[in-house]
Amino acid sequence: MQFIDLKTQYARIKEPLQKRFDDILTNTRFIMGSEILEVEEALAKLSGARHCITCANGTIAIEMCLRALNIGPGDAVITPTFSFIAAAEAIRLVGAEPVFCDIKEDSFNIDIESLADAITKNSHKNIKAIIPVGLFGQPADMNEVNQLAIKHGLTVIEDAAQCFGSNYQTKKSGNLSTLATTSFFPAKPLGCYGDGGAVFCNDDQLATILKSIRVHGQGENQYDNVRIGVNGRFDTLQAAVILEKLKIFADELELRNQAAAYYSEKLAGKYTVPTIQSDRSSVWAQYCLLSEDRAGSMAKLKTTGLPSAIYYPKALHLQEAYADLGYPKNSFPIAESICEKIFAIPMHPYLTKEDQDKICTVLLS
Ligand SMILES: *Cc1c(COP(=O)(O)O)cnc(C)c1O
Repeated sequence: MQFIDLKTQYARIKEPLQKRFDDILTNTRFIMGSEILEVEEALAKLSGARHCITCANGTIAIEMCLRALNIGPGDAVITPTFSFIAAAEAIRLVGAEPVFCDIKEDSFNIDIESLADAITKNSHKNIKAIIPVGLFGQPADMNEVNQLAIKHGLTVIEDAAQCFGSNYQTKKSGNLSTLATTSFFPAKPLGCYGDGGAVFCNDDQLATILKSIRVHGQGENQYDNVRIGVNGRFDTLQAAVILEKLKIFADELELRNQAAAYYSEKLAGKYTVPTIQSDRSSVWAQYCLLSEDRAGSMAKLKTTGLPSAIYYPKALHLQEAYADLGYPKNSFPIAESICEKIFAIPMHPYLTKEDQDKICTVLLS
């Protein structure tokens, strides 16, 4: 059994995708071919945001947002300590300082009290932005994050790499704050066949700046450089993959939801199963359980040949690369305790009930 089954999905889109690949290979528009604009329009429409600017990956998407906001040396940006490293890394890459905060025990997303606390405690720093993350598929408490941001004059960048496609009240992830980013890494709910990402915004001026940053800070013409940028373009071939995957995305999200509901029905009681708040949905980037005996649970699965994984084993404030920030152990007790208990079981749209039964039987034995 695979942790994520991309082969079944490929069989579903193979024919039209090969036709698209053939076209691109023949016309050789590998860089910024017409598929880029086509996929940007489709993604903007899906999110409800006015602009989608595709880019090379989800990490550079965050870096591009920070650069577009002129965030750099002397500035600080707040992000939760329990996440993938990308946001913290992008903050560092532009020369700013990451300030961490804790998460909520039930959703694993940013804790508003801890966020407020981080703003107060670091008021001597030049805090410019907040990067909440929609971890494992469910958006964070974006209204509360936005309210705090407005109160303190900060900009919000939603890291939607895992939750793109989800709903939050009447809106969609990607359209919940000034800026949002996603990733098309193959294992994400909406992934391509290599690296890719995108930025979303409603502001025309920010969109223009982001497009310039994406191509070396380009100005009016190709060899006119008006700002420091990156080489951050999305590949035409990868845009074609997303265009085909978008056709089956809604159906796949429905299948992910069914698989998640089936797991939760079977495993609730014995394990702490994920909770999705009633005003939002999840795209189930991961299905994570909490267990007091994680090692035992994962070992049982392994001996039966069933995969599992830990997202994430170590909080970001305790990572060696960020040791100079000086956060001691126990700085963020919820995140640190979740790191000890959490593990993920296979989640993708093509999980069969038989496979899910196998996993659940082992976990309940
Ligand atoms: C995957 C991921 C990213 C980064 O995406 P890449 O395309 O791999 O650079 C950023 N944030 C989160 C939460 C992610 O899961």
